[in-house]
Amino acid sequence: MVGPLPNPNDLIEALRLKAEQLGLELFGITQPTAPPHVATFEMWVEQGHHAQMGYMATERNRYLRAHPEAIMPEARALLVVGMRYPNPQTIPPPPSPYPLGRIASYAWGKDYHNIIPELLKKLLKELETWLSTPVVARIYSDTGPILERDFAQKAGLGWIGKNTCLIHPRKGSYFLLGEAFVNVSLPPTPPFVTDHCGSCRRCIEACPTQCILPDRTLDAGRCISYLTIENKGPIPRDLRSSVGNWVFGCDICQMVCPWNVRFASSEGSPAFAIRPDIAFPNLINELTLTPTDFKARYGDTPIARARRRGYLRNVAVALGNAGDPESASHLGLVLKNEPEPLIRAHAAWALGRIKTRSACEHLSEAYKHEPDPNVLTEVKNALEEIA
Ligand code: SF4
Ligand code: SF4
Repeated sequence: MVGPLPNPNDLIEALRLKAEQLGLELFGITQPTAPPHVATFEMWVEQGHHAQMGYMATERNRYLRAHPEAIMPEARALLVVGMRYPNPQTIPPPPSPYPLGRIASYAWGKDYHNIIPELLKKLLKELETWLSTPVVARIYSDTGPILERDFAQKAGLGWIGKNTCLIHPRKGSYFLLGEAFVNVSLPPTPPFVTDHCGSCRRCIEACPTQCILPDRTLDAGRCISYLTIENKGPIPRDLRSSVGNWVFGCDICQMVCPWNVRFASSEGSPAFAIRPDIAFPNLINELTLTPTDFKARYGDTPIARARRRGYLRNVAVALGNAGDPESASHLGLVLKNEPEPLIRAHAAWALGRIKTRSACEHLSEAYKHEPDPNVLTEVKNALEEIA
């Protein structure tokens, strides 16, 4: 373990500056001990609001969230950083004769799970040079069993809003977080203690599925971000229309937040190269993505997490919500030829929403030949919808 440093405040400022140069615009330090909202997390799991994310509810995961000191017993400080991603409000969808989907703006660039840890490693290399001694670290970016936003608040990066996002009072909430447990004793930066949400309820009122709970948590099983990414099965029928054209994640509760409207900058961090073609995909084109195409287009982005199976399920739902008659023939081909039953099932639902003669013909044909009982149920439901 590295002992206490002669001038830790200088070291903190040097680290903050270096972090900023690397594109980690938010920086703070806290102690690697239990953060304030462990009991809220426990209650959230007890109430089943984690939906099918079983890994959140394992004994080990719950223990480590409540006892972060067990993650790395020799840790003496926890560095917390935030990397900015673009404000989606400043980039409107392009004009298009075809229905477009929408992807949450944090996923417009390369996968932050890879980028932030690499940047943190560079920051720690610098720390090693300054200290002339090796630094032992455990690095996470949405990858470890810790309450990330709680630690970020504790390190002074902002407050946790009613929409559950960490909000910086002069920069908004479009930030991805990363953490490094280190074996270096560093004094904590002051925690963020003010709640600037006040009586505002914009996010609660704007959420299409009404999944924001009063204790600054979400009913994940109803949140579009969960439904289109972590959810590996069908999207519940009663929530499909609320998903709108979101095919990966959802930005709505951040887009309405006054702290983003006033302060969020349009650009992402320079470390986070954005690919604008990814933001608003042409849904009909997306329906034709083969596994190879999907990997080539999205393999190095967060979208890979949904896998082709989940992503094309979402695309089918978005096409059903768009209701464009032109898409019936494309969805019909999916219903006939797509090997993955989950995608066929959602294509059937979408055809039931489009309700044209062509949609009805594709469904009637599938009714005669569909081998999968779950897809067949969707086909029957869709035909009833049209009748
Ligand atoms: Fe609601 Fe979308 Fe925010 Fe989830 S991400 S809480 S669905 S507005
Ligand atoms: Fe807080 Fe209002 Fe932003 Fe929601 S929209 S997080 S209530 S400030």
